[in-house]
Amino acid sequence: MTKQPMQYQKFDVMVLGAGIVGVSTALHLHRLGLDVALVDRSQAGGEASFGNAGIIQCDGFAPYGIPTEPKQLLSILLKQSSVASYDLGTVIRLLPWLRRYHLASSGNSVEHYAKTIAPLRALALKDHLDLARSTIADRFYRKGGWLHVYRSDVSFRKSEVERYYARVFGVDYKEMASSAIAKLEPGLKLPDLKAIHWMESGSVSNPGAVVDAFWRGFVQEGGTYLRGDARKLEQQRGGWVLECERSSIYAPHVVIALGAWSMDVLKRMGESYPLAVKRGYHMHFQPQAGASLSRPVVDVDNGFALTPTDKGIRLTTGVELADRDAPPNLNVIRLTKRRAEELFPLGEALQDEPWLGSRPCLPDSLPVIGASPKNRGIWLNFGHAHDGFTLGPVTGRLLAEKIAGKTSEVDLTGFSPERFRS
Ligand SMILES: Cc1cc2nc3c(=O)[nH]c(=O)nc-3n(C[C@H](O)[C@H](O)[C@H](O)COP(=O)(O)OP(=O)(O)OC[C@H]3O[C@@H](n4cnc5c(N)ncnc54)[C@H](O)[C@@H]3O)c2cc1C
Repeated sequence: MTKQPMQYQKFDVMVLGAGIVGVSTALHLHRLGLDVALVDRSQAGGEASFGNAGIIQCDGFAPYGIPTEPKQLLSILLKQSSVASYDLGTVIRLLPWLRRYHLASSGNSVEHYAKTIAPLRALALKDHLDLARSTIADRFYRKGGWLHVYRSDVSFRKSEVERYYARVFGVDYKEMASSAIAKLEPGLKLPDLKAIHWMESGSVSNPGAVVDAFWRGFVQEGGTYLRGDARKLEQQRGGWVLECERSSIYAPHVVIALGAWSMDVLKRMGESYPLAVKRGYHMHFQPQAGASLSRPVVDVDNGFALTPTDKGIRLTTGVELADRDAPPNLNVIRLTKRRAEELFPLGEALQDEPWLGSRPCLPDSLPVIGASPKNRGIWLNFGHAHDGFTLGPVTGRLLAEKIAGKTSEVDLTGFSPERFRS
């Protein structure tokens, strides 16, 4: 019997990964008139984009630094800190990465980060709302900003760098003492807090539902969604072929938007990017009787966030440096819950096990957005770290415009994949 030649469904572009980044990229490409297949091994928005704190941050001009204070370091070392937890083997493996990360998040490097990220932060909320209105997701969005709380004057003073760049880039904020905080968020318990109210930022009550609505919009407008394993991508006939669950597809252009899994595909193509993973957990709690929150609150000294969501108060943790695929460490959420209870009266837990997700991080805390320098037709949009929910819609639009050959309103040089070319 003669073998039949494989039949491919042809597209202009396939987008691999249906988190907030991939779904936004696919929706924009489709709206620019391209024939798009969006592929995920699972449901859209099921990973990091599902479980985050839902903050859309227009502020945030300093990267998350590595703690350097002896007291904080000791507490991390003794596994008593909710800011960061670790698996020793992972930390040893990541030492060169951590050194690069430290250099890029301290000293003069902060200015580079601030200047590079500022144009995206300025567009982030507007781009979210544009997609939200057209996909009927706007009911999940909330005004009112978010609150950074500080338990000591020392930690508040350290935030001056954030406030300095906010002034440089014209982002409004209010410094608050305990009495003003109590008026804004009467549910918070500690008497001697300081806070910064970032009024211009936004948040959502259900990040997973937002991605789901964007995805529904893509499908309803005529985009194609397929289940498939991106690791099967192959170069053929001057383009790229992927065998999906129900059909094989071909496209001359492929967008890698696989978040923490991006290197699973890129490594096989000979591409090398220093992508690491910062894991984080969430758990929902009922507030104790009479207590409520109107906006996300982040406890800077303890690294957690409390976000009012459709499912209860969502407690999200700080950073865990552990293997992406290692089992969850329940101590992280236990320790974080103890610290969070000092700040807000958490009641009954609304789920048995915590959710665990992976933030995809590059050492300079900036995503890679642009054409692969090595493989023709491959485009990259990953590494959004702590900001992927914020930046997914705007980076999706900017990359889609680039692929469609339009001139970009933002200079994307600072996000170029070339910066990691060795
Ligand atoms: C605890 C926590 C709190 C956070 N809080 C915030 C916040 O408040 N604001 C903010 O802006 N950001 C926040 N983030 C960061 C944000 O969630 C991420 O940066 C963002 O979701 C990354 O989006 P993504 O689309 O790149 O990746 P993901 O959402 O992880 O999507 C990747 C997709 O790739 C798919 N995939 C993986 N492998 C394959 C394969 N082999 N084949 C096919 N598909 C595959 C997955 O199924 C998944 O759908 C937080 C993250 C965490 C963990």
